[in-house]
Amino acid sequence: MKKVFITGASGGIGKAITEKFYNNGYLVYAGYFSSEAEIYEMKDKMPGITPVKVDVSSSSSVKEAFSNIKGCDILINNAGIAKSNLATDVSDEEFDRIMKIDLYGTFYACREALSYMVKTHSGSIVNISSIWGITGASMESVYSAAKAGVIGLTKALAKEYGPSNIRVNAVAPGFIDTKMNSALTREDKEAFFSETPLMRGGTPIEVAESVYFLATESASFITGQILTVDGGSAI
Ligand code: NAP
Repeated sequence: MKKVFITGASGGIGKAITEKFYNNGYLVYAGYFSSEAEIYEMKDKMPGITPVKVDVSSSSSVKEAFSNIKGCDILINNAGIAKSNLATDVSDEEFDRIMKIDLYGTFYACREALSYMVKTHSGSIVNISSIWGITGASMESVYSAAKAGVIGLTKALAKEYGPSNIRVNAVAPGFIDTKMNSALTREDKEAFFSETPLMRGGTPIEVAESVYFLATESASFITGQILTVDGGSAI
């Protein structure tokens, strides 16, 4: 049974990714940080998943998680946070926190997974970026920078580890209805949807389908790609 480690499995998109892999017979290690109740509720419905507590912003916590998992065939770097404010109001602490979780965390987990994958000469990684990492978002400068970093990292690792038969891709979602966007008003959402060709936001399942495609054999000749799942909003 192939092992897949999904960070941020306790969140909206992470839960859908977890369900997709679980329902397709993978051995799922479901990462969470603070949402213990949510992850054990998921385990009630999917008894085969293994919850893994990990703070992706800490390299030692990520190392410990991987040493408990003992091997990883597929890694999904999905944990992330966002904050909306003016760049001039961003504190050093806030800058560090977003970078540490969204970018450093992705790197830390890639580094641990790759050291195992090179030994088996196979593996697949999907990083979750964002359309803001491609287009940039007003009021989300740090998040945009972190998610752009994830794209650069994805392409670099695809080149570096392709010869070891390891694929590294990213999914860049547009607006997806999860608690990450719970602060947005209905008017904010409608304004965004009116500029989206498909005229709506996406669902966590729609992201999970793309992640699963890139992570698995259907995408066996695809690496270093950034797949936008955004209803066309970044065109
Ligand atoms: P969400 O529901 O808020 O979930 C965020 C997840 O990240 C949670 O599982 C959370 O775990 C985890 N997390 C936060 N800090 C962590 C840390 N220090 N260590 C480990 N895990 C941590 O958000 P979501 O919408 O599902 O977002 C998932 C990913 O998609 C993120 O990378 C986000 O940037 C990206 N994305 C989302 C959208 C969108 O519109 N929703 C658009 C583009 C990209 P706990 O709850 O257990 O702490």
